[in-house]
Parts: sequence; C-alpha cells; structure tokens
Amino acid sequence: MKVLVINCGSSSLKYQLINMENEASLATGLVERIAIEGSKLTQKVDGREKYVLTVPMKNHKEAISHVINTLLDDVQGVIKSSDEISAVGHRVVHGGEKYSASVIITDEVMKDLEEFSQLAPLHNPPNIIGINACKELMPNTPMVAVFDTAFHQTMPEKAFLYGLPYELYKENHIRKYGFHGTSHKYVSQRAAEILGEDIKGLKLVTCHLGNGSSVAAVNGGISVDTSMGFTPLEGLLMGTRCGDIDPAIIPYLMDVKGYSYEEVNNIMNKKSGVLGLSGVSSDFRDIEDAAAEGNERAKLALDVFHYRVKKYIGYFMAAMNGVDAIIFTAGLGENAAETREEIIADMEWFGIKMDKEKNKVRGQERIVSTDDSKVKIIIIPTNEELMIARDTLTLLK
Ligand code: AMP
Repeated sequence: MKVLVINCGSSSLKYQLINMENEASLATGLVERIAIEGSKLTQKVDGREKYVLTVPMKNHKEAISHVINTLLDDVQGVIKSSDEISAVGHRVVHGGEKYSASVIITDEVMKDLEEFSQLAPLHNPPNIIGINACKELMPNTPMVAVFDTAFHQTMPEKAFLYGLPYELYKENHIRKYGFHGTSHKYVSQRAAEILGEDIKGLKLVTCHLGNGSSVAAVNGGISVDTSMGFTPLEGLLMGTRCGDIDPAIIPYLMDVKGYSYEEVNNIMNKKSGVLGLSGVSSDFRDIEDAAAEGNERAKLALDVFHYRVKKYIGYFMAAMNGVDAIIFTAGLGENAAETREEIIADMEWFGIKMDKEKNKVRGQERIVSTDDSKVKIIIIPTNEELMIARDTLTLLK
C-alpha cells in the first residue's frame, strides 16, 4: 500500500510517496513558484540523479497533475498506475478545537477547514486548494487531513487560555492552539523507542528549531504545553518572526511611528526574529557565518535566540516537575551543533549535561548527553511525512 503525502503552501508544494509495507520513501519532491513565472518541479529518488522539470504551472491543480505524471513517468517514475496510490495524506495547519486527531476528508470536514481559515489565513487556504486539486485529479482516492494543531489539543485550560476576557475564548475561539504538532508527536514517540521506555512514563521537552520554531512539553506522550499560540507567531523568535513581545508594543508602534495594522503585522512576521536583530539574514547558517567573522549583531541575534529556547525549556521543566529527555529536531535542531551546545550550556544544576564531542554531528539520531547526565539530550531528525502517512493508513484501516 502506498500513501502520497502532500504539504501545500501558497506557491509551493512538497510531496512524498511512501510504501507503507516497509515505510520506505519511494520519491520526494518539491514544486516551487506555482502560478508564478519559472514554475519548477524537483524530484528525488534514492540512487538516481535529481530530476528537474521546468514547465509553466498556472495553478495547484496543474502542479499536482505534474507530480502524478512524474511519479508515473517511464523513466523518472516509481509507480506504473495511479491506482497504486491508495490514499493521500494532507498536512493541514489548523484544525481548530474540533480536531484533536487526523480525519478522513468529507464535505463536512472541508466546511470546517474553510471556517478555520479565519484562524490561519496564511496557511489553511493553500491547504484547501491542494486538497481540492487532488480530489479533482483522484476522485476515487481517499484523502486524510493531518493537523498541525491536533497533537496540542490535549493541553489543559490553564496552559491554553490567555488572560483575556473569557468571552473572547468562548465566542471568538481566541486561545493557544500550538503548531508543529506532527513533528513534536513524531520525535516524542521516537524518543521513547530510542530510550526503550513506555512513553506514558516519560517527561519530554521537544525543541523543533527550524525557520519556524517551537518547543513543547510532552508528558506521558501527550502535549501539555507549547510555545506557539493562537498563531505561529508566539513563543521563540524565529527566522523572521518576533515570537513573544509585550503586546503593548503594537499600539505603541501604531501611535508613535504611525504604522498601519498591516505594517506592524508585516514587521512582526517578516522583518523580525534573527533577521531583524542581526540585519544579516533569516537563515541561521548565514548568521552563524557572520558571527564567526565577528559581526556583533549576528552574535547578539544568536544569543537572544538561544536564551529564549533555554527559557522555554525551563518553563516546561517547571510545568512537568522535571524532564527525562530534551529532544532537538528540524533544520537547526538536527544540524547546528553550536546552537544545541549554547542552549544547553549552564544547565548542570538541573542535571543536564551535554557531551560536546558526541554533539558534533549533523542530521543523525543520537544521544548527546554525558553518561552521568540525569536528563538525556537526543537529536532526532523529524519525519512529519511518515507521521502523516501512518495516520492516513490507520484511518484507512
Ligand atoms: P527548517 O525550517 O526545519 O527547514 O530549517 C531551516 C533552518 O535550519 C534554516 O535557518 C537553516 O539555516 C537551518 N540549518 C539547516 N542546516 C543547518 C546547519 N548545518 N547549521 C546551521 N543551521 C542550519
């Protein structure tokens, strides 16, 4: 049985075809610049040269049709017939309070997704477009929605409520939802496997550090708190997002600088984070290079980032009355040894000690704490696609 996983953005689309008999990835691909000049599909298959198709793609339906044709292609393909695709698993960012687990997509689910677009205006609409395009091209193939918010639906009220009038929660659904749930769930389950322990007895702090970053407190296999909030803007500072700030800064900027709501929103989402502080780039590799060359603002941006992650680890240790393992995942968490080292530095008092030699590794699953560290520190490359495919398979069965 093969499951196609689709992660659809506004102008790009990531896909992966997974053979669920052995959970092997058959092909991974990326379509960029959909509906923009220079549309391009790139597909990777193990043991083959990377394949690039540059052809105009006016919309997501055309993009997905090129994905299917590439998967079926005599030379570049990996399957003979589209019937081999038993189901499609879609990454959907927002499932509101209604969806605490993945779901088979029906007309009712589609209506709900439209409604949740209000809560995630940048993310849910392209997800919906991707689902509709797949439904048109594969009308008889079951589709499943796997939500970024679902894993965090187990948070207790004391963690998800803001200190705002209660009616704003009840009537306008303003609360912490949390994101990156599929990744936090995957690395938590994998950590339990690596440690050879029942997840029900484990307290984990999972750090998903990438271009977008979040930390989660996972107690007994369920999320009890996380750093992202009503939107993915809250929490850590990120590539271009500011993360936690005093909300009073927003009216102050509108008042003193005369910024419009759109300008403030744009600053907080696109011009802040490590880009805004360093003035160098939103890409951590560029900032690390600049810092190594002596750029003071680049060093400062990294310091602020590391400190914020450390603070959240502290919050969540307090929330769970301890921690058995701290997990690092995503682009930065998996690859950036210095970032991990700086975040973990000076936490010996808690019994958290990193083995700096073991930590010198990229993109590999590995325990990098010292043998006498009370708390394990583990690098686990995330695999959201596999998690989506597993949920899809479970629902099909
Ligand atoms: P993601 O959003 O998970 O794809 O992560 C992207 C981020 O990870 C970018 O800011 C990259 O600069 C960062 N990243 C990827 N590889 C490395 C590396 N080897 N060292 C430092 N940062 C990295």
